[in-house]
Amino acid sequence: MKTIFKNVTLLQSGFPQGVSYYVTVTDRHITKISTECPDTQGASVVDGQGNILMPAFYNAHCHAAMTLFRGYGEDLPLQRWLEERIFPAEDRLTYQSVYTASKLAIAEMLRGGVVSFSDMYMFEDAVAEAVLETGIKANLSRSLVSFDPNVDVASDSRFAEARELVKKYHNADDGRLKIDFSLHAEYTNVPKYVAKIAEYTASQGLRMQIHLSETEKEHTECMQRHQKTPAAFFCNLGVFDAPTTAAHCVWVSDEDIEILAQKKVSVAHNPVSNLKLGSGVMPLSKMLKAGVNVCLGTDGVASNNRLDVLREMQTAAILHKGVMRDPACTTATQMPALATVNGAIAQGREDCGEIREGARADLILIDRYSIHNMPSYDDYALLSYSAERSDVRLTMADGRILYQNGAYTLIDEERLRYEAREVFAHYFD
Ligand SMILES: [Zn+2]
Repeated sequence: MKTIFKNVTLLQSGFPQGVSYYVTVTDRHITKISTECPDTQGASVVDGQGNILMPAFYNAHCHAAMTLFRGYGEDLPLQRWLEERIFPAEDRLTYQSVYTASKLAIAEMLRGGVVSFSDMYMFEDAVAEAVLETGIKANLSRSLVSFDPNVDVASDSRFAEARELVKKYHNADDGRLKIDFSLHAEYTNVPKYVAKIAEYTASQGLRMQIHLSETEKEHTECMQRHQKTPAAFFCNLGVFDAPTTAAHCVWVSDEDIEILAQKKVSVAHNPVSNLKLGSGVMPLSKMLKAGVNVCLGTDGVASNNRLDVLREMQTAAILHKGVMRDPACTTATQMPALATVNGAIAQGREDCGEIREGARADLILIDRYSIHNMPSYDDYALLSYSAERSDVRLTMADGRILYQNGAYTLIDEERLRYEAREVFAHYFD
């Protein structure tokens, strides 16, 4: 299968703005980038009409099925929000509800240019089914928790479930679907369990997803419990010996940032969720200065309420200027990497996230002629400050077009709406 994009400019370092390119995609990969027209025989040609072709977005921290709880339990402090609203609601989850809610999440992400997401939840086999069906990529993980200090890991049913997922789905469809391990957080796990899961994850060559230092309360209580920060707690128990993505990292010390940089932990920055839940602001400039791989996540829609990586990027692009009172502390040029290639690195997809020959074709086309984008003197400024996700005209994952001009290629949108309404209408009966 061959697709050729013509008449596109590229938002990718190394390529000058304003130059019109042809990009050839053969099967899953970008095989040629040229200013001359390549051989179009047998290819389907997409006319970019002068618009921007760029690497697609990666959502590095998500709970897709939480679309079920969009608009449910608003404006509460985190602990009350979790205990009074979210946890009781999650007790009602079923395979079917997670499947439908995940599919809704995937449809939302695809139309916003997201081609891959990292997920941490339950009923992940239902999420896997939705991923395989819709063409999106994902790193899925069964969220693990443990409260008994003498827990017997070998007989733990969640651990068994996680291993089963790996056996069944890891690297399915040429690596489009990957299975990670996930320790939910420090405050939901005991040291013995954390050490065992860390050892197992590293020994299997798998990746780890965790929540880390999301709130001040988490930080303070961890210090009381273990006389260590959450980052030091996980590091000492060997968690970071497996490639890890840590979500949030709002309440981290300078020493924690050093640990994250040294252990090559990817940090998923979730600015919208952190703002909405009143958790605080991650020290982005410090992280970047320390050389941490910072990517972006939406978290679940219950705390967002969108799965919109472009909005995360644009929030990050202005938030830190305000907090630091320094308009130069982040730049428009550096932000797209957080939403693209850094997320791919976090997911262990080193052949993704960039426009270069040999890379996987994860691409989006952005309309530069939307009223709110004109005139645009600089494509990076357009993307970091003025674009909207509705400017995404086309989303391609692994060389396959999944969304184009408002329509999905593998998702029946009307049927999805119907199914979602059915599930949501009876969810709280
Ligand atoms: Zn989360």
